[in-house]
Amino acid sequence: MKVFRQKANLDVTLDSLRRSNQKIGFVPTMGALHQGHLSLVRRALDENDKVVVSIFVNPTQFDNKEDLQKYPRTLETDVRLLETITKDDIIVYSPEVDDLYDTQVKAIDFNFKGLEQEMEGKFRTGHFDGVATVVSKLFDAVKPDKAYFGQKDFQQLLIIKKLVEILSLPVKVVGCDIMREEDGLAMSSRNVRLSEIHRQAAPFIYKTLKSARKKFGTKSADKVTKWVMDEFAENEYLDLEYFVIADASNLKRVKRKSKKKSYRAFIAAYAGDIRLIDNIALN
Ligand code: AMP
Repeated sequence: MKVFRQKANLDVTLDSLRRSNQKIGFVPTMGALHQGHLSLVRRALDENDKVVVSIFVNPTQFDNKEDLQKYPRTLETDVRLLETITKDDIIVYSPEVDDLYDTQVKAIDFNFKGLEQEMEGKFRTGHFDGVATVVSKLFDAVKPDKAYFGQKDFQQLLIIKKLVEILSLPVKVVGCDIMREEDGLAMSSRNVRLSEIHRQAAPFIYKTLKSARKKFGTKSADKVTKWVMDEFAENEYLDLEYFVIADASNLKRVKRKSKKKSYRAFIAAYAGDIRLIDNIALN
């Protein structure tokens, strides 16, 4: 498998693929790959000739230095895992910070029309500016036909779609289903850092989301939210940061339900010092 550390070298290879009319799919990741990432890669392989997987822990999207330092970095294992799918059609791009950022390791100040102010944006200052900055740099390096993002980070997916619209980029953004462990816990690179007791407690998040979906059929968003908060208050291993029911198109909180709209419920919770997020479609 080809692993590029430098944009300039990646560019030479991608250029020749483009000249022979090959379609390029792109899966941006921060590595510590798991089956959730691989599901995106498989989908991208189905829909393109070659797939670039970037593996880069992006410093500008972390508001917590310790989280950035402790983020798992496992390039060799990641490459081996990708090779279990195919050695031929995947290209890995895993740059050092300066290859993407040069000397300016700073996020651009974007305006996503309020999308960035909800949920993750409220609790992780500057997070989406950092995400959008690195994704715009990666899009520029890879120039993909299609790019694949997980609904696990649903707010991020909407923000990337908005980014593509704002910058008029010729890339189609594809949202992919959330992959889960057998007990329902959404796969995440952070799961390996959970203590045993917190790992056992964590499936409660998805279980609560599913119950919330059921209750939302007959109850108001406020009532469901209160119920979820009470459930978490009784759980000694998980600390709820937020539970929000929002319009899936603009992430505005639901005031009054309308049959014509799609809604999603979103959770962020701490299991010990590990922050986990998950979400579910409600209708
Ligand atoms: P990350 O490495 O956490 O930045 O994630 C890279 C991409 O993989 C993002 O588009 C995520 O939404 C996606 N992803 C992460 N976890 C999952 C999952 N459990 N199921 C589907 N996609 C995921």
